[in-house]
Amino acid sequence: MGYGQLDRSLTIKEKIIRGGGEFLQWVRAGLFLPRCRNCGLDLVQPEETVICRNCREKVVPAADSQCRICGKFVPDGMETCGSCLLLPPPYLRHLSYAAYDGTLREIIILYKYGEVEPLKIFLSGLYLDLVEKKLSPAFDAVVPVPADLHRRHGFQPVRAMGRILAGRLGIEFMPRLLLKKKHTPPQVGLTQAQRKTNLDGAFSLAAGRRITGKSILLIDDVTTTGTTIKKCAAVLKKGGGRVTALTLAQSRF
Ligand SMILES: [Zn+2]
Ligand SMILES: [Zn+2]
Repeated sequence: MGYGQLDRSLTIKEKIIRGGGEFLQWVRAGLFLPRCRNCGLDLVQPEETVICRNCREKVVPAADSQCRICGKFVPDGMETCGSCLLLPPPYLRHLSYAAYDGTLREIIILYKYGEVEPLKIFLSGLYLDLVEKKLSPAFDAVVPVPADLHRRHGFQPVRAMGRILAGRLGIEFMPRLLLKKKHTPPQVGLTQAQRKTNLDGAFSLAAGRRITGKSILLIDDVTTTGTTIKKCAAVLKKGGGRVTALTLAQSRF
């Protein structure tokens, strides 16, 4: 499975951002123009960087009912989803800020594929919001889901956000605690069954690292089936950590 399969599942905007060298240059050059990178409006407020207040205000927490354990959207009135009841996941909770659509999706794409790095400030603030409003903020460390092998030397969007989150919470940042051992095809484009086994054995704990008794915030950008978070949480749990997971957005299926 290569990029062909992945490409078919991307929107036109994602293709433009990924494929267009010219467009990328324009995105980068655009950082120096005082215009919103998302909607194109002029940036007029002093606190606005990269994206305007109007676009920021469109990013709001999910209003739908969510499973109290895995955070998946569930029908109103349901507290815990069927899969969490059947097989409790290896984390205490997994919270997603919102659904992967609308303005949040566009901002994440701009950050992740357009590599508009300053957006890490705004996006990491969404994790902080979840911690402050929905969790008791007594954590020991922030651990990012590791990047795939081909991204290891470039821009690492999740790691960049994790560093800021850890700084704002005043806790340890452990970017090299989890290792990704093998190259895996993107989860996008795989069947449910393939997604579950695609990541088998993909993650491990760095040699000699001890996390016994530590309360860990595991973070990733977008979640689809939740498999990546579960595999990483299982490794951390086996190492003795207590894991709470945060993602910016979850796709609806
Ligand atoms: Zn805007
Ligand atoms: Zn659940």
